Amino acid sequence: MKSLLVRFFLFSVVIAACSIAVTAWLASQATTGTIRQEQGEALATEQQIFDEVVKYAATHQNWSQAKSEMDRIAKQYNRRIALTDHNGRKLVDTGDASSPPLPITPKAIVDPLNVNGEIDRRAVGPFKLTDDESAKLHAFADELGQCNRFIKIVDAPNGRPRLSTDEPGNLSQWDSCEVGDALYTLTPTENAAYAQLQQLFTQCTAKIPGQNLYKESSRIQLDWEILTARHAPPEVAACMDSARRTQLQPYVAEEARLFLTSPTGNEPQTIDLSTTGVTRITLVALGILALAGFASWITATQLVRPIRALTAATKRTAEGDRTARVDGGAGEIGELAKSFNAMSEKLADTERQRQAMVSDVAHELRTPLGNITGWLEATQDGLAEPDPHLIDMLLEESLLLQRLVDDLHDLAQADAGTLRLHPEPIALEDVVDQVVNAQQNREILLRAELTPLHTTADPVRLRQALGNLVANAVRYTPPGGEVVVKLFEQANNAVLEVRDTGTGIAPEDVQHVFDRFWRADKSRSRRTGGSGLGLAITRHLVEAHGGTVSVTSRLNEGSTFRITLPMSSPEHDGLPDHDHGRQS
Ligand code: ADP
Repeated sequence: MKSLLVRFFLFSVVIAACSIAVTAWLASQATTGTIRQEQGEALATEQQIFDEVVKYAATHQNWSQAKSEMDRIAKQYNRRIALTDHNGRKLVDTGDASSPPLPITPKAIVDPLNVNGEIDRRAVGPFKLTDDESAKLHAFADELGQCNRFIKIVDAPNGRPRLSTDEPGNLSQWDSCEVGDALYTLTPTENAAYAQLQQLFTQCTAKIPGQNLYKESSRIQLDWEILTARHAPPEVAACMDSARRTQLQPYVAEEARLFLTSPTGNEPQTIDLSTTGVTRITLVALGILALAGFASWITATQLVRPIRALTAATKRTAEGDRTARVDGGAGEIGELAKSFNAMSEKLADTERQRQAMVSDVAHELRTPLGNITGWLEATQDGLAEPDPHLIDMLLEESLLLQRLVDDLHDLAQADAGTLRLHPEPIALEDVVDQVVNAQQNREILLRAELTPLHTTADPVRLRQALGNLVANAVRYTPPGGEVVVKLFEQANNAVLEVRDTGTGIAPEDVQHVFDRFWRADKSRSRRTGGSGLGLAITRHLVEAHGGTVSVTSRLNEGSTFRITLPMSSPEHDGLPDHDHGRQS
């Protein structure tokens, strides 16, 4: 679980699973809504088609002329409409020869005399008024309409105009209008139809035993449209129904089965949310999850590869291999790899310096030690006399060794950061004077140009630093040359400048002069030249004082070394009395 790879992988898979689940849920919500809406629309369409087909059946005696009307409806609702009788014989079909066979179960049974148990209002049969009668009644109705402006005329299915109003109570006002009774008088057609119906009804009720009272009260109520025996017991109501059906039967089209399909025969695809649907969705989700997992595994592997390379390189470095480098590519890990490489480089550099230093130190020690040993052995063998001259030489060699060891000690302290300074307020001109006096030499003109300046510094260490510069200047200046030591102030800094007219330093060498054990002339021995540590120590000492040291030089013309020290302000009085050293 601690592996970055595994964690990244699991994290991605969880994210992918969550997004799949949420997306699937949202999609199913949206789809369910759409399906419901579509199903609702389809149902409403079918209901409208059914209603129009029933209307046709209620107003026609048979289906023989139905084709053109059915075609119109089919076209309007973009459906194929087919009607068959009980035996499956086709009565009407808006499809053509290429249409597929009809489904087994019909959408509905079309029977105008039995629509959900009721007789369709539009089946009026013998009650249908003749054009004459209708025109007459409409004339009365129009008069009534003019008499009472609230009245509206509505046609009943048999063509009789009826009165209606938007505001209840207004209907009574027609009483004052004169044509009222004429409008409510039955026409001959209606009288005949009612008489026939009454006869059929009476025939039926006659067969019901002992219900005379009801038979009498159940005479057909004539309210112009609704023909029913109100409050009648069920048998009486059944008689009314059967009487009406018997009467209307010859006037309506025969009962038929209605088939509704799409014009091409393909039923619209409904979404299957059954087990197979769920299985399919699950499989697809699993597939996507597997893909997401695969992709995240690849990404994670790529991400982790440079980290693993870094780990391996770090291990190699820890085991001492300084050549370990990593190619981390771009991005944050690339940056990390670059930092690691830089660190490795630096480590290798330090290692090289350390090795070079040890070998240099060994080399530097070998000569004076070899001399001392040689002279002592010669003396032992009786080849040399232990006279004052010999002792002087031995002393000189041992002093050289002593100086070298002191220099190395100073550098080691500087490296370890334990170079101790003891700063105090000093007059810089005194330091320069002391150094110049100590280095006076008959062959070279050594002089000082001083501006009195005060600062806080460690006088001993500062003398050592300046001493190294003046000693070098004197050493590398041929007899007759001149060395000038200047002290002046510049931009709130004290500048100690040592200028000589000596050999100068080649431009390509200038950058090395402050390196340890570096000498322009490799053949110069420590006796004639120096150890190659002087400038390195000077730089450390100056930097420990918060200053800098620099050089400009021209070969065969002379060199100028400059120490720049910050001047201490009166309030903040210089360097604290503790360790000042720099790791280099
Ligand atoms: P050394 O003890 O050899 O003088 P330093 O560190 O003091 O060691 O100097 C390093 C080298 O820089 C010298 O060996 C010399 O080649 C060069 N150098 C230093 N000072 C001067 C100078 N004033 N003029 C010319 N060369 C110089």
